[in-house]
Amino acid sequence: MSLLSLPVSTLGVPRIGPRRELKFALESYWSGKSDAAALLEAAAGLRAAHWARQKALGVTNIPSNDFSLYDHVLDTSVMVGAIPEIYGWTGGSVPLDTYFAMARGSQGDSHDAACSHGGHGEPRGVPALEMTKWFDTNYHYMVPEFTKDQQFTLASNKPVDEYREAKALGYETRPVLLGPVTYLKLGKSKDPTLNPLSLIGNLLPVYIEVLRRLAANGADWVQIDEPCLVLDLDEATRDAFRQAYSFFAHAIPQLKIMLTTYFGELGDNLDVALGLPVAGLHLDLVRAPEQLDTVLARAPQGLVLSLGVIDGRNIWRANLPAILDHLEPVVARRGSDHVEIAPSCSLLHVPIDLDLEPGLDPDLKEWLAFSVQKMGELAVLGKALVEGREAVMQQLTDSAVAAGRREASEKVHDAAVAARIASVTPEMARRATPFTERARLQRAALNLPSFPTTTIGSFPQTEDVRKARAAHAKGAISDADYEAFLRKETEAAVRWQEEIGLDVLVHGEFERNDMVQYFGEQLSGFAFTKHAWVQSYGSRYVRPPILFGDVSRPQPMTVEWWRYAQSLTKKPMKGMLTGPVTILNWSFVRDDIPRSVACRQIALAIRDEVQDLEAAGAGMIQIDEAALREGLPLRKAGWKAYLDWAVESFRLTSSGVSDETQIHTHMCYSEFNDIIDAIAAMDADVISIETSRSKMELLDAFRTFKYPNEIGPGVYDIHSPRVPETVEMTQLLSLARERIADGQLWVNPDCGLKTRKWEEVRPALVNMVAAARQLRLAA
Ligand code: GLN
Ligand code: ZN
Repeated sequence: MSLLSLPVSTLGVPRIGPRRELKFALESYWSGKSDAAALLEAAAGLRAAHWARQKALGVTNIPSNDFSLYDHVLDTSVMVGAIPEIYGWTGGSVPLDTYFAMARGSQGDSHDAACSHGGHGEPRGVPALEMTKWFDTNYHYMVPEFTKDQQFTLASNKPVDEYREAKALGYETRPVLLGPVTYLKLGKSKDPTLNPLSLIGNLLPVYIEVLRRLAANGADWVQIDEPCLVLDLDEATRDAFRQAYSFFAHAIPQLKIMLTTYFGELGDNLDVALGLPVAGLHLDLVRAPEQLDTVLARAPQGLVLSLGVIDGRNIWRANLPAILDHLEPVVARRGSDHVEIAPSCSLLHVPIDLDLEPGLDPDLKEWLAFSVQKMGELAVLGKALVEGREAVMQQLTDSAVAAGRREASEKVHDAAVAARIASVTPEMARRATPFTERARLQRAALNLPSFPTTTIGSFPQTEDVRKARAAHAKGAISDADYEAFLRKETEAAVRWQEEIGLDVLVHGEFERNDMVQYFGEQLSGFAFTKHAWVQSYGSRYVRPPILFGDVSRPQPMTVEWWRYAQSLTKKPMKGMLTGPVTILNWSFVRDDIPRSVACRQIALAIRDEVQDLEAAGAGMIQIDEAALREGLPLRKAGWKAYLDWAVESFRLTSSGVSDETQIHTHMCYSEFNDIIDAIAAMDADVISIETSRSKMELLDAFRTFKYPNEIGPGVYDIHSPRVPETVEMTQLLSLARERIADGQLWVNPDCGLKTRKWEEVRPALVNMVAAARQLRLAA
């Protein structure tokens, strides 16, 4: 058979199904409405559809085992039998409910039960494994948990089963495994003296067994993902790579390994990667195009290079002729049997199909590509590189025309925004007066008690609130009725806050669907989709806003709600905004200007809102930057540049107000040590942070730094339905007072209360106010 295309891979495709089929199948199973067989059947149906779709679209290296019921890192833990004791697994194949108990915890009831090992008596609930972000994506994985005497054993045949399943359907696939080094590095241990990497010797035999079975069943190639090769690595980790891959090469020499790296450049790990005895190496050439030249210069001639040229992390259509300009010389130099075409990383992180969005603006739609469209692009590239550009002339022309139209579009480029960006001065990002002086003026203006109490912004988004929003979105209730409903909710929340004696009130955010979407929908330059879901974790999917053009604010966004809420009370009402960095980090961002510039545009728009709130009379304005830390580059070398522009954007937003106006910010992540100077540079008058679960230890970073501004360390864990007693909060506060001066301290929960129920929030906040009062009496 003559080659009509270069090999084309996807490295993995979204699992969730175009209509969120996986979510619905999971939820139906979890709620007991359907059984395991139905869930597994739905999953198999999705896999079959994924394989068929890839084949139809011209993908030649179709992956298997990229599917997961919940998370591929969890799948790997199950595969190697790294199942903590509390889940009660005693060997043999791992029951579905044990898997889900690791993923979501279990209440100990029969359907959810993981822990029947108690035998009799009370069923016991178990907590889920910890969950954290997969590199710098918004995908969350279940953190592997290891013990000092950790044993590994093959406990799941999933990679082999799915390879065989595909084969039975007529697809020869390239199974995907999470590599052993990255897997261990993602894990942790309760025992701080255990370095998970030290377990590699125990782990490798299980991998060998899997690889052997794959080979025995006919697999020629496997894809092994080692994204940690783009991180800063120590020598021990590099040694682990050498150990693992030479072990594989010796044990199963006939099996070819495509070692995939993504989310950045190999950099100083390049020599390690090129020295491994693998048959192929995948490079992310979207995040790190510069590395291609170095790799070409140093890669052994026999190494198959998989060139990740289509953006797997973003939703923009590629300019295919421009990509071919780079690829053609590579193919000429290395030969078409040593090059593959791929997305930069698995397509897991992009929505499935643009064709499901008939409502999108047709111009914008022409500039976008979701996973299905990206596979099409890859196939065109693969064909052009073998048969020549003529063979796909029409597609290449369309692609270039779309790129040209996007570049020239007035929807994207707004001269007024450009002019404004050009006129930004350093003074605009600086409060006029230093904090100590501002604090004095604010104290005089605001007249708050010591240890002032407040909340982070949202109050429970009850069933009623959600129903009303859905009905309004469908047109089932009028704007006026919806508005009246929201006013009623707001009024009740304000009255209630007054009643229990909070010092600084919030309006409750009932009108907001989401803290980013709410603003994106009111700003120019953002678009929203109907079905463009991306997996965040397990069955939780998100639809990030699409930031496609220059950002401006046609009109005030929150001022009327603030004005209404303030009209109900004499207590100070905080203005409540989402900050520019968070809006940026939770969106799909345009790739035609630097992120820093897009962020500055948003900053200017929010700055206007801050100033409008101030003009309306707000004396306190909170600008949430929940996602500031999430934007940190994977390698330390990139941190400073990011933090510089992120902090500058926040300051641009917050510095246009008078000294008396108190700027608050809120951050809900819990690691400040390594970025405390950036936090201080934000110069917010008050910062509220999540601290309750760390027993205030997170304040150590602030103490060591001698952080001068005011701080509200969260005294109550809003992630749990549990109502904390007053004494627990006074205890936390005394821990806080060991670290932070009384005059700097505020009293508030860890985060917004939107996910809680009023029955939980009411007593908790009553207790919190009591705790602050006790402190005032004693101080
Ligand atoms: N103001 C927001 C709220 O209370 C903040 C949420 C967040 O930090 N994630 O809901
Ligand atoms: Zn928060």
